[in-house]
Amino acid sequence: MNIGIVGLGLIGGSLALDLKGLGHQVLGVSRHSKTCQIAIERGIVNDASDNLTLLAAAEVIFICTPIAAIAPTVQQLIPHLSPEVIVTDVGSVKTMVVEAVTPLWHNFVGGHPMAGTANSGIEAAISGLFAGNPYVLTPIETTPAASVRIVEELVRSLNSTVYFCRPEDHDRAVAWISHLPVMVSAGLIDACGSETDPTVLELAQQLASSGFRDTSRVGGGNPELGVMMARYNQACLLRSLTFYRHSLDQIIELVEQENWQALENILKQTQLQRPPFL
Ligand code: NAP
Repeated sequence: MNIGIVGLGLIGGSLALDLKGLGHQVLGVSRHSKTCQIAIERGIVNDASDNLTLLAAAEVIFICTPIAAIAPTVQQLIPHLSPEVIVTDVGSVKTMVVEAVTPLWHNFVGGHPMAGTANSGIEAAISGLFAGNPYVLTPIETTPAASVRIVEELVRSLNSTVYFCRPEDHDRAVAWISHLPVMVSAGLIDACGSETDPTVLELAQQLASSGFRDTSRVGGGNPELGVMMARYNQACLLRSLTFYRHSLDQIIELVEQENWQALENILKQTQLQRPPFL
């Protein structure tokens, strides 16, 4: 197949590598000619350009830009597309993207690969990023079934596990397991940093080990990504944060009351609740 990729960063570059490896003709578009040059030299794409006209020959196009640029990119693409071209995206939030893009391009299938690294840009592109990881597709009633099947087959060929759900359910679910953890972890780092005694703060920094590394990892990542989650998934994130605040208040109360039995009951319950998420 002729496959177009707009946005040759971590996700776009990694998709290009895998799809090219599977024998597809991959055409990449970046805003920078330097990135196009790297993508061609490293064999990430068959051809690349800083001009969307390159994608006139594409049958399926993956939009791999930051979320805010997805709908504007589709708008710019339209003059170069014939009606049968399938457009899909990889944005981490789906309701806002699906609502913005579907009126522009009927043949649009929302998607979100649940895979990533802490790196970004073309240099971060790696092969096999999606294998063994979930890849969510969020078609709506008006999405052409044949287009959904084609995107599904492509995604399956990356050895991803495909899940289908409504955009709204996707956003609620990722608020729990991706967006809330970032805010909780950021809150944890912020709280630790508020220690007023410099000797204690320094000692805590020296003693921090695997537990702190695990619980602070997602809060110490790319700030742009965290803001993006809050901005484009605001309602779901606020809902999850409110439930979380309630849980935290409950734990504070039990510790204040020295109600160790009730605290143990909660911790026994969370010990059982964790495995199904992993
Ligand atoms: P990235 O490495 O920064 O790549 C995004 C690429 O988009 C950049 O390399 C840039 O390429 C291009 N771009 C940036 N701003 C643009 C704009 N305003 N208009 C057009 N193109 C622009 O980021 P990424 O991690 O691959 O994320 C891309 C998408 O994947 C996002 O929608 C994100 O929500 C989603 N996603 C990310 C992860 C993750 O863990 N990182 C996981 C799943 C999904 P040029 O500068 O060369 O044009």
